[in-house]
Amino acid sequence: MFENEYISLTLPKQKNIALIAHDSKKHDMIEWCRNNAAILSRHFLCGTGTTARMIAEQTGLPIRGFNSGPLGGDQQIGARIVEGKIDLVIFFSDPLEAQPHDPDVKALLRIAQVYDIPIANNRATADFLITSEFMNTEYTHYVVNFKKNIEDRARDL
Ligand code: PGA
Repeated sequence: MFENEYISLTLPKQKNIALIAHDSKKHDMIEWCRNNAAILSRHFLCGTGTTARMIAEQTGLPIRGFNSGPLGGDQQIGARIVEGKIDLVIFFSDPLEAQPHDPDVKALLRIAQVYDIPIANNRATADFLITSEFMNTEYTHYVVNFKKNIEDRARDL
């Protein structure tokens, strides 16, 4: 009955990593990137606009910037997770300050969960992720079979 409910996907050895930091966490993020520059430089980096710009300028790491978070950058990253183009997210969010784009932040966390993408939302988790053996290997995981899901829904609804 549950046959084909999930498909196996493989996160590559060289990962597409998205970096996002709310304003009060940007300096933390830059310091964290500096501390982990050797590891990060072996992967492909992208991030929300301001975070990416500050990382590029202050660490020299190559990083692709999307729009600023409140202008849709988190949604761009979420869309790329759906398309299988992002393998890991480091998101230093601010739990003490209301964000104008809170729905987008929630959407990003949710879609990362749906697609079983590793996502760190504080520094300790980021330290655990970045030192994981899976940073140096492929990682196979199981994701809901989105094609079958459509077939079943179109037939049954
Ligand atoms: P920013 O966006 O990097 O453009 O500041 C981050 C966010 O607030 O989601």
